[in-house]
Amino acid sequence: MPDSLLRFIQTHPVVDVHEHHLPELLRRPDIGLQQLLQQSYAGWAKARPYTLPTETRDADPMLVAGGKSSWPEIAAFLEHHGSNSFVRNLVAAISELYGDSQGRITRDNWEALDAAITKQHARAEWPDEILEKAGIERVITDVYTDPLCDAQKSLGRQYSSVMRVNALACGWHPEARDHNDNRGHELLRRIGCAVTSFDDYCHALERAVDTLADRHQVALKNALAYDRGVDFDEPNEALARRAWGKPDPAPDEKKAFGDFVVDRLCRLAGERDVPVQMHLGTAQIRGSHPLKAAGLIERHPRTRFLLMHLAYPWSRDLLGMVFVYRNIWLDLTWAVLLSPSHFSLALHEAIEVLPDESRLMFGGDNWHAEETYGAIGRTRQLLASVLEQKVQSGYFHEEDARRLGTKILRDNAMNFFRL
Ligand SMILES: [Zn+2]
Repeated sequence: MPDSLLRFIQTHPVVDVHEHHLPELLRRPDIGLQQLLQQSYAGWAKARPYTLPTETRDADPMLVAGGKSSWPEIAAFLEHHGSNSFVRNLVAAISELYGDSQGRITRDNWEALDAAITKQHARAEWPDEILEKAGIERVITDVYTDPLCDAQKSLGRQYSSVMRVNALACGWHPEARDHNDNRGHELLRRIGCAVTSFDDYCHALERAVDTLADRHQVALKNALAYDRGVDFDEPNEALARRAWGKPDPAPDEKKAFGDFVVDRLCRLAGERDVPVQMHLGTAQIRGSHPLKAAGLIERHPRTRFLLMHLAYPWSRDLLGMVFVYRNIWLDLTWAVLLSPSHFSLALHEAIEVLPDESRLMFGGDNWHAEETYGAIGRTRQLLASVLEQKVQSGYFHEEDARRLGTKILRDNAMNFFRL
């Protein structure tokens, strides 16, 4: 690869469109090697942290404070889950940031790495320094532990947040909770809406969208693929109203309530030019195929949807949708961590199929800055390699590759989110 294209992509500033940097976690001083592994997608390799409809859980395992690091626990990540891409990404990042960049954590060096992590995390500014090393200029974070979080206030100037709408779509009863344990009624109360009727609730949804900018929130985030299917059908208001006030409505009433709320939020977002991020792929996998969301996208042609994760494993179906529906943009986030090799293949096709150069952007999708450092670095590397192959094969010229690279790394996100 010509050094110049690689260096260009590796050093160009990035606007990171998706993280889960949480105020209560990002700058904690008591972080060691074990916490980094557990509070990351490497932790997902050990145990899926969300439940299926047939399961229950006591607490979010991602947020349970881990104990002191120990070799048997760390060895389990490295030796049992060591082939997994999430683990490889994080081990490489830790090795670069704290070790000899050889990409290895061993019985001989783990204690030194653990001590170096703890020492650096004693300084509150360390996560910001890592993001600077990664060349990240702005971050959009999904603080799912508090969907109303003003991230600019609680995390810093470079942050904006999105408002996760899951709790609102599950708010048929004051005590009803989404999979993150958030209550829609409680969120609406915090923005000054005392809701006692279905009609109050509808008005309050409008208030939630109208007050986004007050909290430096730049988009709505629909992560309902973790609560239900993404088949947000034509709203049936009569059936949605039947869910109202019931602690545990019938499944068709719950679905109708969620469909109604999501449809209304998408309409409000379109009228106000607020983008809507939506998780697609994996999650509740029986219901998260991107085509299930096609009706919602078709009903709201004025709403700008940012569809996430290349809807892994259905990226080709998603690319077909982006060609057809011109109100879709793609957030490549997480796809690169799930499978770097599939990511490269899908990126080649995305460049060819998408109708214009504005459609692609990416982020890290991580809890700690170390994993973000790895994710952004790996994305830069794969992006450079795909662009280089396109130049080598004569698909386009190096100047085209640089122009597109700049857009994917930064400019598309700035324009899309009106930053
Ligand atoms: Zn995410």
